[in-house]
Amino acid sequence: MELARKTENPIIPSYSLTGDLISFLRCGLQYRYHNQSSLPPSRPVQLWFGEFIHGVMENAYRIWKSDAPLFPWPSNPTPYQGDPPADRELHDIGTIGDMVESTLRAGGKNPRSTETRRSAYERAEQAVNNLGQHLFPLIQLAEEKVIGTRDVPVLADHSVPIRAEKYELHGIIDVVTNVSLTEVPNTNVIRQAIQKVCPDLTGDFEVIIDYKGSQRPTTDHEYWKQGEWQVKTYAWLRNNQPDSLPVAAGVLLYINELAPSARELEDLKKAVRNVQTDVIPKPGSQDESLLNMWKSGNSIPDFSLDYRFARAIRVIPVDSEGAEEAAKRFDRVVIDIESCVNQEVVAGNILDQWVPSGDEDTCVACDFRYICPSPAPRRAHGNSKYQVPTAP
Ligand code: SF4
Repeated sequence: MELARKTENPIIPSYSLTGDLISFLRCGLQYRYHNQSSLPPSRPVQLWFGEFIHGVMENAYRIWKSDAPLFPWPSNPTPYQGDPPADRELHDIGTIGDMVESTLRAGGKNPRSTETRRSAYERAEQAVNNLGQHLFPLIQLAEEKVIGTRDVPVLADHSVPIRAEKYELHGIIDVVTNVSLTEVPNTNVIRQAIQKVCPDLTGDFEVIIDYKGSQRPTTDHEYWKQGEWQVKTYAWLRNNQPDSLPVAAGVLLYINELAPSARELEDLKKAVRNVQTDVIPKPGSQDESLLNMWKSGNSIPDFSLDYRFARAIRVIPVDSEGAEEAAKRFDRVVIDIESCVNQEVVAGNILDQWVPSGDEDTCVACDFRYICPSPAPRRAHGNSKYQVPTAP
């Protein structure tokens, strides 16, 4: 009897949507350095602030669900390298923050500075006390894992051999809601925002919600498009889970808009002046005059909550064709990563294969900026090699 030759087990790389694909789009070289001695994908890139906000919101939701403490919740953060204030309650945002910080610390993740930590607590307090009362009643599932397998397409313009024919795509959706929007009061700002953008929603559907530890990007920025493709790809993954309803919309919550920094206000003023943002203060409103009068060096103005909510909440309608198309665009990003992996194996070096493509904000927070050959702003901004592809 002739025995069949043993074939090699096929490689099916497993990619996280945010930890791998979005991180690679943010900076190819940073993404590679984060993988240390292994070839990607192995160690996803995550920034401390984004993870802190996610952790606080998840823990706050669980406390709200079991005990429903009335808002506003107290917020007494532990002083940096100090002891927790005595007799803090379980739902104190300082107590929740301590739990999240210690989990991150155990994973080697720490805030970049005391200012980063202070502003993270300020934003966490705003997110829990202002957004929480609108968001938490809508939640059906929190931190929902989603996974799918996709073919790596063969592209005519890609000659580099790829090590895999399929890849696994996975992610964690922050919040899934299938609560009928009419079951929450019409004063609910998330319900209002969804119904404004998707007025014809009827029947059974889901909405997925994702926290962003950033300001609302300008509408011509690469991050604006990335946010949309990310939400739609989550929708593709969610639509492929057996227990799901069709996803009708995605909501991005830009947490920094609830408590903007001076740098973010400067960016906002510029974006309003250059007509690069879709949410401006109402003409003649106090928010408009506060923004117009504000100068760098002044304290942060007290913008109305309505205006901050309008900046923080972005709704993206989703249908199954749009979700499939978005997933196809990320196929292209997988091909770019796999090409870099292959070229590194052949050439035996990292720097010639993985492009330093971070923008200024990414480079300022990058662990590798002192060894990077081309950090921004030394490298002109806008020369990123990697973008969400315009065609699948
Ligand atoms: S410093 Fe900037 S360009 Fe260099 S690796 Fe870090 S993020 Fe990328």
